[in-house]
Amino acid sequence: MDCLFCKIINGEIPSKKVYEDDMVYAFHDISPIAPVHFLVIPKEHISSAAGITSENSAVVAHIFEVIAKLAEEMKLDKGFRVITNCGDDAGQTVHHIHFHVVAGKQLGWSSEQGD
Ligand code: 5GP
Ligand code: ZN
Repeated sequence: MDCLFCKIINGEIPSKKVYEDDMVYAFHDISPIAPVHFLVIPKEHISSAAGITSENSAVVAHIFEVIAKLAEEMKLDKGFRVITNCGDDAGQTVHHIHFHVVAGKQLGWSSEQGD
């Protein structure tokens, strides 16, 4: 399958790993919008939040467990934001579901998201 994030998972495209287990992979975003900006993705290809079903939703719970663990390890005690863009209006550019974790500065809030 011609999917950028599947290629990152299988090592065809290099990335800076933050965490990995049998279900998920986390890596630094190539174009960070804050001092801390990494992505957490399932190893199974799911196209977006719109593709979550009762069959595959367990990985989403696991991703949030991983995010909480990483946030503790990285001492993000001042706060962080988790974002998943779904579809064109949200600006999703990679069609393999991913959760942005953004931190390290005071984050604003608007429909533009992120900063
Ligand atoms: P989206 O806009 O789909 O929510 O987010 C896609 C994210 O993937 C963007 O923040 C973008 O910077 C990141 N990205 C795109 N290509 C690569 C890549 O080759 N390597 C890494 N590490 N991040 C990427
Ligand atoms: Zn994929």
